[in-house]
Amino acid sequence: MSDPIRVRFAPSPTGYLHLGGARTALFNWLIARKLGGVFVLRIEDTDRERSTDESTQTILDGMKWMGLTWDEGPFHQADGFDRHKAEARRLLAEGKAYRCFCTAEELAAKKAAVGDEYRYDQKCRAIPPAESDARADAGEPHTIRFRVPEGTTAWDDVVHGETRFDNASIDDFIILRTDGTPIYNMAVVSDDIDMRITHVIRGDDHIPNTPKQILLYQALGAPVPAFAHLPMILGPDGKKLSKRHGATAVGDYADEGFLPEALFNFIAFLGWNPGDEREVMDRDELVQAFSLERINKKGAIFDREKLAWMNGRYLEKKPAEELLPIAAPLLVTEGLISQADVETRRDWLLHLLELIKVRVRKTTEIPAQARVYLTDEVFYDPGAVEKQWKDPATSERLGAVRDALRAVEPWTLEGIEGALRAAAEGLGVGFGKVAQPLRVALTGSAASPGIDHVVYLLGRDRALARIDHARERIGAGTAA
Ligand code: GLU
Repeated sequence: MSDPIRVRFAPSPTGYLHLGGARTALFNWLIARKLGGVFVLRIEDTDRERSTDESTQTILDGMKWMGLTWDEGPFHQADGFDRHKAEARRLLAEGKAYRCFCTAEELAAKKAAVGDEYRYDQKCRAIPPAESDARADAGEPHTIRFRVPEGTTAWDDVVHGETRFDNASIDDFIILRTDGTPIYNMAVVSDDIDMRITHVIRGDDHIPNTPKQILLYQALGAPVPAFAHLPMILGPDGKKLSKRHGATAVGDYADEGFLPEALFNFIAFLGWNPGDEREVMDRDELVQAFSLERINKKGAIFDREKLAWMNGRYLEKKPAEELLPIAAPLLVTEGLISQADVETRRDWLLHLLELIKVRVRKTTEIPAQARVYLTDEVFYDPGAVEKQWKDPATSERLGAVRDALRAVEPWTLEGIEGALRAAAEGLGVGFGKVAQPLRVALTGSAASPGIDHVVYLLGRDRALARIDHARERIGAGTAA
């Protein structure tokens, strides 16, 4: 058997875990799970000014929330500084890199004169090693630049296919700064070699870095990994997804009422699909179906409406027991139930959630749906009132229902349903003629879960009081 693949997610801790980062992490995770590989997490914190511990924490939290568990790490890139430097110095010693003594001012002036076309003029390339050593020994500030060889640098990108760059288009790029710190490409390659990464899977904004990185692998005598560059995530307007298009941080989606499993499924489809009709796929199904070969080249459109739809599907499937820990804090925060009652009324809450979960697309919509069962506030929908209470017999029918419900013993779903059916029969009307006006009386709305469930959850006292109130309204002529 060949060695297991080793992949990594290498976020820079300079912000939150955004959707693009989550997608990169997720694709790496999926392929590692699929092929029995190793998923490494590396925090690229070499930019000390912009990196923060809070950002690292946010990224780790976001990954944990989505269930993107890593097998090794989190490693911190900054811990590898000495190795990055040693490798850059090795390239210098081997003549694959050279010292550049050009000052920042000198380079800036040249750049200003040329504009966007600017490329380093390789002025220091020709400095003889002895002179270079002497100047360095004398303390002259310098950077270390990679000596880009002639030729072409090509790779067979798993997503984009054969990709090539003429080396003449690649600057002799800096690998160590004047202060001795490594530049991004040097650190990444050194780490990926050290961590024996076999597949580099990341956003296609990194394609311009890839030829430089490949040249570094070759210069360091290390095997070059496979590269898979993921298509950009676009907003519905076809432009790169940004805050303009709404939330882009994973944490915001959690706050907005999305389930991690729904976001997981949705993100897996950003640039990938299983090649069949399936859309709602759980983690295991995604692992089974995933392959790097099926990743698209074209940008992936982020469709919020689709995410909401998918979240609705997951809510519907989610057992009420699993939904309760998410929903209860929302109900408590809204003041609809006390923390103590979350425990004492657990069965009742589970029953309620079972009914509500099919009617919402986000968990944050649960309190609005639950309100009518937990408070005495009923908002009568004028349209429903107009339609369902207009029959002059409504009050009488509600009266019959009231009597029937008063007598239900014990208070069970079956008992309630039987009583309502008997009431309709006694009145000589179809069940709907009783159920619909009652539904409006109890919930204010013409759409609700099954009427027997509504009655049951409200409880006898509340149900009877609402019927009385409805009859008063009808009697007072305020019904319609
Ligand atoms: N740290 C880089 C980033 O956040 C990723 C580097 C890589 O994946 O090679 O974009």
